[in-house]
Amino acid sequence: MLRNSLLYLSRQQRIFDFIRGNGFARRMASRFVAGETIQSACDAAAELNSHGISATLDLLGESVTNEAEARETGRQYLELLDAIHARGLDCNVSVKLTALGQDIRDDLCVEVVSAILQRAEQYDSFVRLDMESSEYTQRTIDTFERDLYSRYPKRVGIVLQSALRRTLDDVERAIGLGARVRLCKGAYKEPDAVAFPDKSDVDATYVQAMQRLMTRGHYPGLATHDEAIIDQAKRFAREQGITPDRFEFQMLYGVRRDLQEALVQDGWRVRVYIPFGTQWYPYLMRRLAERPANIAFMTGSIVREAMHRAPRPSDPARRNGAH
Ligand SMILES: Cc1cc2nc3c(=O)[nH]c(=O)nc-3n(C[C@H](O)[C@H](O)[C@H](O)COP(=O)(O)OP(=O)(O)OC[C@H]3O[C@@H](n4cnc5c(N)ncnc54)[C@H](O)[C@@H]3O)c2cc1C
Repeated sequence: MLRNSLLYLSRQQRIFDFIRGNGFARRMASRFVAGETIQSACDAAAELNSHGISATLDLLGESVTNEAEARETGRQYLELLDAIHARGLDCNVSVKLTALGQDIRDDLCVEVVSAILQRAEQYDSFVRLDMESSEYTQRTIDTFERDLYSRYPKRVGIVLQSALRRTLDDVERAIGLGARVRLCKGAYKEPDAVAFPDKSDVDATYVQAMQRLMTRGHYPGLATHDEAIIDQAKRFAREQGITPDRFEFQMLYGVRRDLQEALVQDGWRVRVYIPFGTQWYPYLMRRLAERPANIAFMTGSIVREAMHRAPRPSDPARRNGAH
């Protein structure tokens, strides 16, 4: 019920317009979103890199409805790739096709993404196409295979979601192509006709897809914070003699930082997905929906931090009249 309400709220732009100026909401968001600028995003990537963790940067923003916006988002991605290269970061980028014109015209979207891929080629970088809700799955896979992977096989990869009933077939197809796959469970509310209603099926499908990708796929990204699944992946890798350089774990910025560091310390590869930009609201609401306990967790840590920072009567800052 709470999850559905949060997912509903994630789609209400007017509520976002209202809360964007609210300092409390922005601080809640800062747990999961690395600021609103390219510089703040690159700073977050640099910080993770200093702990041996790779990054992927996502400029937040979902479906755009006019061509100028799609082209502007594409331009910002070029600037982002320039900044990543200039700072020598261990970092690639993730894009959403609806933010690059998929809902306007396919040829526009392909043109904008192709420019990003060309820039990625110039810098020996990589572009991941995030997967959105199931109404986009087939279109995204078609654009990926027909227009992008065929021209930039080393530069572009796709995401598959174990929540969807079709995914094991899509995994086989991607393996056949030699395409790089990020495997996740899926963040969207989907109808039972296309997705498993039971979490146990989503998890079981994840494990099956993961094992196929680890043995026969091309450098899969295992995107999950599910410790039981991560343990299975490690065990499977050891049993099958799959070395840590053949795949990577992926997690979201601000989620299970302890686990991210522990994996790196054990010699596994980890990449963190760092969203940034002004359009942080739907993303934040989806993260809260995934784990409503985060609302209490974040509220508590903001209050603790505020209390910690509040100057006591004896603080020099207060004595000097500073505020
Ligand atoms: C790198 C990356 C890229 C992604 N890309 C996409 C994409 O392109 N398309 C898409 O649909 N989805 C994407 N997702 C989201 C994904 O589909 C899930 O919604 C999300 O990862 C939660 O699922 P889980 O695998 O962590 O497992 P869950 O079973 O949901 O969670 C397992 C455990 O992880 C912890 N956890 C999970 N989420 C949170 C959270 N928000 N805060 C704190 N703890 C948490 C909890 O302890 C929970 O018990 C991506 C996720 C990652 C990590």
